[in-house]
Amino acid sequence: MLHDELTIKITPTTASRLDSVDWDKLPFGKVFSDHMLVMDYFNGEWQKPEIVPFGTLDLHPATSAIHYGQSIFEGMKATKNEKGEVLIFRPDLNAKRFHESCERMCMPTISEATFIELIRKTVDVDRDWVPAKDGFALYIRPYMFATDDFIGIKPSDTYKFIIFTCPVGAYYTQPVNVKIEEYYTRAAQGGVGRAKTAGNYAASLYPAKLAKDEGFDQLLWTDAVEHKYIEESGTMNVLFEIDGVIVTPSEDSDTILRGVTKRSIVEIAKKWGIPVQERKLQVAELVEALRQGQVTDAFGAGTAATLAQIAKIGYRDELFVLPDPKTRVTSLKIGAYLNDLKAGKIEDEFGWLLRF
Ligand SMILES: *Cc1c(COP(=O)(O)O)cnc(C)c1O
Repeated sequence: MLHDELTIKITPTTASRLDSVDWDKLPFGKVFSDHMLVMDYFNGEWQKPEIVPFGTLDLHPATSAIHYGQSIFEGMKATKNEKGEVLIFRPDLNAKRFHESCERMCMPTISEATFIELIRKTVDVDRDWVPAKDGFALYIRPYMFATDDFIGIKPSDTYKFIIFTCPVGAYYTQPVNVKIEEYYTRAAQGGVGRAKTAGNYAASLYPAKLAKDEGFDQLLWTDAVEHKYIEESGTMNVLFEIDGVIVTPSEDSDTILRGVTKRSIVEIAKKWGIPVQERKLQVAELVEALRQGQVTDAFGAGTAATLAQIAKIGYRDELFVLPDPKTRVTSLKIGAYLNDLKAGKIEDEFGWLLRF
């Protein structure tokens, strides 16, 4: 493992692209900051990390991640407050989850302290890329993949860990329509649903495409065994307000990604005295509550969107229209609070921000 003394060699770019960014037209995930961090693993240990100009990678055609999918990632956001300080929202939880993904995928771990420090250094080098504009952020993408040039199924002996960043605007500005999926599966018990690993997203593309053809933005996944319980959405956890109680599928099963945003929303709601239940949520219960008009709010939670209100829910041949997103109390209040907190506009009463 890496020693406490983290020395990072930095090779600065000689041609910054910062001035060429069109901040009024910023597509999500297509504009990349000037630098990236690269750290290789071989001979049984992590080598010295380096920050280099952002650029392409040179890969062997047999690179094992491409063939067999040992590949994991994280996602978080940095913002800038009025004082020009950079703020990163709860990177400790991402570090912990990355560690868990490493273990599940038989990949070498990175200590949580090192992970956070590598993030901090990478963002610091490109701190001019962290937007100070309302709704904007610097999306941070750490990832790791297997690099053995070997055709065979076994854990790779070599890996690459990279962090790059992208300035982004607001992600889902519009409320989303979701469809309850009762045939395809995102994650099964004993599988890799809890890991943020590449294949989970590849597997979801086809069912998501079918749902898109029907006019939905995303799926609402159900459990793999009986398709009887609500799990989560594409890259968001989900929460429903039923009869004044926020109900969200519990993370006890290893089929649900443990989201930082959802965890934060649950903690905020509890602090505010809004009743929250983390438990199994039957599709039948949700559908009945929708029929009775008891679902007063519903939203997805994830770093990219922060909070995305759910406007309509499709179930078999029915389409349930939820209350007008503009009139909702809970999601608007929590969403605004979370966005203000992340942007450093209000006091960080939970101590969630890393600032530098
Ligand atoms: C990343 C992700 C989430 C959201 O997690 P956050 O930590 O809030 O960004 C939820 N579900 C899946 C499947 C994800 O990949």
